[in-house]
Amino acid sequence: MIEIDGLQKSFGSNRVLDGISLRVPEGKVVCVIGPSGSGKSTLLRCVNGLESYEGGDVRVDGLRVDRTQKEIRAVRQRVCMVFQRFNLFGHRTALENVTEGPIYALGVAREAAEREGMALLAQVGLAGKEKSYPAQLSGGQQQRVAIARALAMKPRAVLFDEPTSALDPELVGEVLRVMRDLARGGMTMMVVTHEIGFAREVADHVVFMDRGKVVEEGPPAEVLVAPRAPRTQDFLRRVL
Ligand code: ATP
Ligand code: MG
Repeated sequence: MIEIDGLQKSFGSNRVLDGISLRVPEGKVVCVIGPSGSGKSTLLRCVNGLESYEGGDVRVDGLRVDRTQKEIRAVRQRVCMVFQRFNLFGHRTALENVTEGPIYALGVAREAAEREGMALLAQVGLAGKEKSYPAQLSGGQQQRVAIARALAMKPRAVLFDEPTSALDPELVGEVLRVMRDLARGGMTMMVVTHEIGFAREVADHVVFMDRGKVVEEGPPAEVLVAPRAPRTQDFLRRVL
């Protein structure tokens, strides 16, 4: 589904991704962990074409992610991204935030988009909040609208970039619950997170990155419980 091979990316002379290779098979959840500045967000941004890269290869469903190509639109429809800051349209209701993409980007009829949007908001536990504006919702509710909005595009995979790290601690659980349900429903997911408990429970595969390289990867029971690399051990000691 998502195939990354030898990915290289620099900002000026700063090599941020230094030969990253990884796979996210269909229906699987891959969690990416690592210290600040290790290149996790840049990696996700390369996967849905928000960032260009100089070397290697990124493919989604066999389509090469290349910002210069017209297929980039097809890629962006296949992989949606949920950001740390929810990035909702502030002057649109929850439902309008969810239906905007299907109506304007996919050409879905308004009525059908609204029906689907209501169902998606219910799925993320927000039935009854359709008419609320982002400012009237808690951070956890806003992030769940953002997830519903991503799902409304009927993506083949969803990328999450620290979706809970901007939330008050008591709101983290409700967002992780929605993500866990999504994973159980078979969604293909690539999740950058500091929530080690979530990664242990939900991930099929964990990747630890440092300074633009994959240092260690494997099942959560290995990487998170009995890491082999000293840098992974160090990192986990600091975050746990
Ligand atoms: P964090 O955990 O803090 O979110 P991260 O692992 O997501 O960190 P990135 O945001 O991918 O790290 O950044 C990796 C490196 O690339 C950092 O050194 C950062 O300063 C640099 N960088 C990221 N975006 C840009 C940009 N647009 N221009 C220049 N440098 C950038
Ligand atoms: Mg980041």
